[in-house]
Amino acid sequence: MAIESMNPATGELIRRFDPLTEDAIHQKLALASEAFKSYAAVPMGHRALCMRKLANLLEEDAVELAEMITMEMGKPIKASHAELTKCAAACRYYAENAVRMLAPESITTEASRSFVRWDPLGVVLAVMPWNFPFWQVFRFLAPALMAGNVGLLKHAPNVPQCALAIESLVRRAGFPRGTFQTLLIETSQVDGVLADERIVAVTLTGSETAGRAVGAQAGWLIKKSLLELGGSDPFIVMSSADLDLAVENAVQSRCINSGQSCIAAKRFVIHAGIYEEFERLFVSAMASMRVGDPMLDETQIGPLATRRQLENLDQQVNAAITAGARLLTGGRRILGPGYYFEPTVLSGLPRTAPVYRDEIFGPVALLFKVNHLDEAIRTANDTPFGLAASAWTRDPDEQQRLVAEIQAGSVFVNKMVASDPRLPFGGIKHSGYGRELSAAGMREFMNAKTVVIA
Ligand code: NAP
Repeated sequence: MAIESMNPATGELIRRFDPLTEDAIHQKLALASEAFKSYAAVPMGHRALCMRKLANLLEEDAVELAEMITMEMGKPIKASHAELTKCAAACRYYAENAVRMLAPESITTEASRSFVRWDPLGVVLAVMPWNFPFWQVFRFLAPALMAGNVGLLKHAPNVPQCALAIESLVRRAGFPRGTFQTLLIETSQVDGVLADERIVAVTLTGSETAGRAVGAQAGWLIKKSLLELGGSDPFIVMSSADLDLAVENAVQSRCINSGQSCIAAKRFVIHAGIYEEFERLFVSAMASMRVGDPMLDETQIGPLATRRQLENLDQQVNAAITAGARLLTGGRRILGPGYYFEPTVLSGLPRTAPVYRDEIFGPVALLFKVNHLDEAIRTANDTPFGLAASAWTRDPDEQQRLVAEIQAGSVFVNKMVASDPRLPFGGIKHSGYGRELSAAGMREFMNAKTVVIA
């Protein structure tokens, strides 16, 4: 894909950017590498000061930044504001807690002193997606910079203005030159950057395909990698659940970010005892979601981010129907300019259909009826992915089994899944490996150096 800002609400090209030349890339790599040498010695107190300033700038510039996000990738404007608020909170969280997280850990041995200290690794390449163009970057950036690492961002090609704005915010916050730079580069240029000896590690948030390519190369280069990939999260509702609350959360979770979130609930696994009622309420709520101009406050679902996303979703819905799924509402692209798709509910997709195993990235929900808890757990786990799950039941025994037996990086009970800087975030199976956020996320790109003093 060309590096260009294209308004998904209208399909209009706003601005095209030339990819960096090899020379320009080398200059940025050299600057990052020089920056690391001095930045690693900058005291934590000063890093925290800059991080708090960064949080303040995100809030001061929120109106223009939110418009930029919505204009580049189409999420409703309220969601863009919420994303910026979350980024500011993450900056403050790490400014506040980094010293505690990185304190040396004493371990008693026969030596006079033995402990683990946390040293930064160096220049980390961050390959990021467009769906939360600020949040995905900030959840890497805030812990990485507080830890003393330096970042180079290769953002998705449809959000170049967001990428450049983040670099500029980091500089204005007072972080030294070169500590965080954006590389406007194409897919084919990523392997050259990753292979450069000045890059010590890579974090990638994106699709399984991208994860395989970058993870394989990092493995061959013996560089640390962290992969946050796709998800097909189950949303399980058992008969003791608070049905109204479950339906409200189910709709919200499926439609967040116009359905383009890795941790959106995508497969709804509903107990037969309440299935009919759930289906009626859920379909009606999905059908009444307000789809429209993402710049308007009242819009709940905006356009999909790119024409490719729209065409892919359309193809998946048609494939599901052809394979035997029943269409309960929606099912079509909305004609006219922009990449809009109707909120859609399908039921009874056969497990033999190829689309059963795909991630569906848009406002399209799949409903499955199950007869008992074993079947619910089996259906929930019947996916190549393992990012997160939301389970709704008031029965403590069912809660216990769901928490223990669901194969996912997170299980939320009677709550929809959401990331939180205080909690580790990441997946298992084809959803990737490693954790972001919390102390666990910060330590992914650090050397746990064992020190023994006889
Ligand atoms: P994507 O197409 O995989 O792109 C993600 C990033 O990877 C982009 O910067 C992309 O740049 C780059 N990329 C793709 N193929 C590459 C390759 N072979 N080598 C190097 N870089 C490559 O994903 P997307 O469409 O932007 O985002 C949606 C996906 O991200 C979904 O699967 C979603 O579930 C996942 N996601 C996961 C999480 C999580 O935390 N687990 C969070 C958000 C999104 P180019 O486009 O220039 O190739």
